[in-house]
Amino acid sequence: MEKKEMLYEGKAKKVYKTDESELFIIEYKDDATAFNGEKKGTIVGKGVINNKMSALMFQILEEKGIPTHFVELLSDRESLVKSVKILPLEVIIRNITAGSFSKRYGVEEGIVLPFPTVEFSYKDDDLGDPLMNEYHALALELATKEQIETIKAYAFEINKIMKEFFLERNIKLVDFKLEFGVHKGEVILADEISPDTCRFWDRETNKKLDKDRFRRDLGDVEGAYQEIMKRLNI
Ligand code: UDP
Repeated sequence: MEKKEMLYEGKAKKVYKTDESELFIIEYKDDATAFNGEKKGTIVGKGVINNKMSALMFQILEEKGIPTHFVELLSDRESLVKSVKILPLEVIIRNITAGSFSKRYGVEEGIVLPFPTVEFSYKDDDLGDPLMNEYHALALELATKEQIETIKAYAFEINKIMKEFFLERNIKLVDFKLEFGVHKGEVILADEISPDTCRFWDRETNKKLDKDRFRRDLGDVEGAYQEIMKRLNI
């Protein structure tokens, strides 16, 4: 399968058309941004790690009955995926308090929530991805009621599968962001699952093994991504 015209270039990935309208090629970059593009940098090797990790996670989720866009790995940095129209909702699941949740509600980071939570934000860079509830999403016709119900059910199921998977590798899954798309009328999981989009803490030491090392200038950013790769055996 060959790359054709570039459809768009995001902050961390490029998406290309292929000969087949049902398929896209994603190319993962080493570019890193944070705070809605205000902070820019490079994390050497990140594109390779995020590509391989996403491929692994999508395969595991497919086996457990979650439909995803993943088709096959093409190279270190490229994957073949089903073409989707992304629903403009960022879906965030949280198991442990951190980041914007802690800031917004004035709670310290690291509190284990009594049950996982879900939240949506409107995927719009110009607006800074504002938090949004289901009624807002419905009223703005960003998704249908049925699509939102499907997304929530998938997101909580994905959390169960991933939480267990990472704990077996001595990693706490603190929170993560998912994006869904529509392919042939069906809602499927799209985008990526990586240290860019998840918070991972070491089970023993709580050392951050994710993009927070970049966002917060904690150092050893590449080391954290490599550690994840090592623990996942990819
Ligand atoms: N996240 C993401 N993209 C975004 C915002 C958040 O992938 O544009 C991920 C982030 O890596 C974390 C989770 O979603 O795992 C929750 O992020 P949070 O809302 O706490 O925002 P942040 O503190 O990262 O701004």
